[in-house]
Amino acid sequence: MIFTDTTLPTGFYRVHHDDYNFSVDGYERGHIVRSEERTIDAADNRSTFILSNIMPQQTDLNQGVWADMEDWCESMCKDSTKELFIVAGGIFKSGFRVSGIIAAPDSCYKIVVILEPGQKLANVDKNTRIEAVIMPNIKGIRKDKWEKYKRTIDEIEAATGYDFLNYVRKDIQNVIESKPSIF
Ligand code: MN
Ligand code: MN
Repeated sequence: MIFTDTTLPTGFYRVHHDDYNFSVDGYERGHIVRSEERTIDAADNRSTFILSNIMPQQTDLNQGVWADMEDWCESMCKDSTKELFIVAGGIFKSGFRVSGIIAAPDSCYKIVVILEPGQKLANVDKNTRIEAVIMPNIKGIRKDKWEKYKRTIDEIEAATGYDFLNYVRKDIQNVIESKPSIF
């Protein structure tokens, strides 16, 4: 069971667990922050099971290529001792709503800033490794590798209207947001 977010402002629809109707729409509850990434204690982990941390994802995305990138992120921390700063979310264009209620993203993005142990965003410089993707929220991509969907942060900013890494110095943003990953 995933909990309704009761902290949303008055007037916001508060999504319920059962608002997801798999049989009709083919979407399932996809975590934005995955459960395995918040494990300090029970409350920390529970914070990932709130419906404002969930977006409708097609199974082939959620259990396929999106999960492939989540596994890569995990291995970067567990096997390579990196520290990751991650931003993720949906890109909404069509206006489609699951069960007529929950806005379903047409694609999902993830931005990963790869830091050394103890580093903070203040340490981000023009050589900092970035991995950014936009993945379509569709059937048929389960077996794809996440690297197929690499994009620049600039492309994600254009698609969402957000300014990511806005607390990083502008001249540094200009470099790291426009270069495709070479890794
Ligand atoms: Mn997932
Ligand atoms: Mn930016």
